[in-house]
Amino acid sequence: MDQISCPTCGKAYQINPSYYGRSFQCHCGQMVTVLGGLDRLERHTAIADIVIGAVHKPGRPAPMMVTEDMVKTMKPGSVIIDLAIDQGGCVETSRPMTLANPTYVAHDVVHYCVPNMTANVARTASRALATAALPYLNLIAATGVENAVRTDPGMAAGLYLYRGEMVNRQVADSLGIPPQDLAGLLGAEA
Ligand SMILES: [Zn+2]
Repeated sequence: MDQISCPTCGKAYQINPSYYGRSFQCHCGQMVTVLGGLDRLERHTAIADIVIGAVHKPGRPAPMMVTEDMVKTMKPGSVIIDLAIDQGGCVETSRPMTLANPTYVAHDVVHYCVPNMTANVARTASRALATAALPYLNLIAATGVENAVRTDPGMAAGLYLYRGEMVNRQVADSLGIPPQDLAGLLGAEA
């Protein structure tokens, strides 16, 4: 069972994976989810007022989810927001724009695809990032980098390069080079 929460009323639901692909509406009437499946994506893209692309594969380009043919089926004046544009976008008609010139129209659909969108709220975004990063910085300051990546799996997972060696599997794969084993590199020094 997976748990989802209604963003409007906060009520939590246990969803059986066999429900994936069906529409689901909260008792408050506000939330409808549809999970997975190209045919369903095509059907709902055609009737949507707004399509928000938010696919993310760590260390990899975003997968293409919405094709140009699907965009052509959308209603005139509907909107695409491609949050995955930082990783290349997940909509075929997406191209990176700027905060100064953020939108364009393709196939009568308004596209908003601005990389680093959080720069719009720079102060708030910086505070949020600092708050998220502070526990890791405190750990490094208190115990040193080697101990921090040894003892905190999250820290180790966030490490790309260690003493010049690529230790992140996703980034290594995307560059076509073999990843080095971090535990081995750390152990060799101990
Ligand atoms: Zn609700």
